[in-house]
Amino acid sequence: MKTVWLIFKVLIVSLFIVSMIITGGIIYYKKNYEQPEIKKEISKKIETQTVELQEGNVQIIEEINDWRLILVNSENPLPENFAVELANFDYSRQFDSRAINELVTMIKTMKAEGVKNIWVQSAYRSPEYQENLFNNKVKEFINMGKSPEEAERLASKWVNKSETSEHNVGLAVDFNNVKVDFEKTREFAWLIENAENYGFVLRYKKEKKDITKVNYEPWHWRYVGVEHAKEMNRLDMCLEEYVEYIKTKNTNNKKY
Ligand SMILES: [Zn+2]
Repeated sequence: MKTVWLIFKVLIVSLFIVSMIITGGIIYYKKNYEQPEIKKEISKKIETQTVELQEGNVQIIEEINDWRLILVNSENPLPENFAVELANFDYSRQFDSRAINELVTMIKTMKAEGVKNIWVQSAYRSPEYQENLFNNKVKEFINMGKSPEEAERLASKWVNKSETSEHNVGLAVDFNNVKVDFEKTREFAWLIENAENYGFVLRYKKEKKDITKVNYEPWHWRYVGVEHAKEMNRLDMCLEEYVEYIKTKNTNNKKY
């Protein structure tokens, strides 16, 4: 009887040991071989999220009817029945009401950071006012002895004709004295560094003159919204290029 009991005990103990070994084996296997599977799952999830995110971004910038990307230049006059709701920047200057907060915050922040010598020279201009500006510039060149045609051609390098200026849109701002040496100021350096965080880009760059057909204007900044401003700077594109880029992207996306 004692022997049977002993055998039974040994059996129980060895069963226990075997089951412990098996459990240990399973745990060891799971830890070392199944983890990569889990990792794969996780990375798959992350990948999907990234793709979704990218698609999300594309959707934002895909929208070419985005009011922030309106392209107005010598070849693209203001759309018919163009209307904009303006808000007062100060007693005499106005800006698009949807973007004025960014403009105000940008200038406030700049000043708070000790870069204080900044003021808005010109923001929104009515098409009539723009026409006067253009005609005055033409007169200047005529007074310098140029023919009317030549004067008009030269004037258009400096002042946009009525309805072909971003100032008519209400999304452009000219800073300080509207002089090229604005580029030497701390204020300009600050804008180059930070303006994109408020949705503004330097609109007429030196190296984009052939595309924009406008001379270098360090004082002229254009609101396009934060994500577009950052993307434009990253891609080093002026608005003409960027709008084309978005259109191409749109077309490509529609294929899929
Ligand atoms: Zn301007």
